[in-house]
Amino acid sequence: MKRIGITTTVPIEILLAAGYKPVDLNNLFITSKDYSKYIDRAERDGFPKSSCAWIKGIYGACLEHKIEEVIGVIGGDCSNTKALIEVLKLLGIKFYPFAYPHNRSLEKVKESLDDFMDLFGVTLEEVEEERKSLKKARDLAKRIDELTFKENKATGFENHLYQVSCSDFDGDILGFEKELKDKIEDIKRRDPLNKEIRLGFIGVPPMTADIYEYVNKFNAYFVYNEVQREFAFPRANRVNNIYEQYYDYTYPYDIEFRLEVIKKEIEKRNLDAIIHYTQAFCYREIEDILIKDKLDIPILSVSGDKFNYLDSRTELRLEAFLDMLGDLKGVKG
Ligand code: SF4
Repeated sequence: MKRIGITTTVPIEILLAAGYKPVDLNNLFITSKDYSKYIDRAERDGFPKSSCAWIKGIYGACLEHKIEEVIGVIGGDCSNTKALIEVLKLLGIKFYPFAYPHNRSLEKVKESLDDFMDLFGVTLEEVEEERKSLKKARDLAKRIDELTFKENKATGFENHLYQVSCSDFDGDILGFEKELKDKIEDIKRRDPLNKEIRLGFIGVPPMTADIYEYVNKFNAYFVYNEVQREFAFPRANRVNNIYEQYYDYTYPYDIEFRLEVIKKEIEKRNLDAIIHYTQAFCYREIEDILIKDKLDIPILSVSGDKFNYLDSRTELRLEAFLDMLGDLKGVKG
């Protein structure tokens, strides 16, 4: 199967129907032991220091892994992605456009998906077949989520990892299913985590994935990963077709629908507080204003840049925040 790079969640059912193997360039970048070399390469090639590390990492991963074709999301993603695609085109990488409509309307989503299907010459029936073939892996990822927030057995990091991986199913759907099944059996055998402060993580998936381990040093743990969970399409079983599935996806549209879903999850998962993660130089840092205004729960905003570990200032802020939450709850923080 020919590889095709993706820079964010796109309707991969269409790519699979067209015989491609989608590869999430974010995952190639961040799981590399040598992730900083991707950033260095981008900066050497002219990306400004003041551009987000994800964009530079994606660029570096695309070139280092010799990806020849990419999906460029030209609507519903950031302007950095648009500029990135222009640079990749200049280097001879073939690009296929996909646009989420700005306004969340089923009719507009349908138009976007139909255009994308036409571009790859696939039919709705073929795409629905692929949608069915992903059901099992999506259900298993959902089971990991339940083991996190209902049974308190899966860690926040496991929850993050297995849901974020649903953007491309690690390039091997059957292998990914098997890994999830084994992991679920392993998690089920554990005793529940004995922690009092229940946290939600919202915002782009973190560069600094050690945040999960760090909060575990205290009386706290993450039981919700907002965007990662959206990548896994947890409500896919409730919809009738691919159009409704991507209409029900919160991340690319205006923030209202996203906040609605977050509010439900705060309630359902009995959260004590939210950590809002943003990436330095990302326009989504500005959304922090809206998030703090609209959500009635303690929120700590943290920001990462180009290292994959927390800096000591962020660690101190997290510690103080957890301490304060412990006082509010009458438990040790
Ligand atoms: S972190 Fe922000 S700026 Fe960077 S790629 Fe994601 S949306 Fe764009």
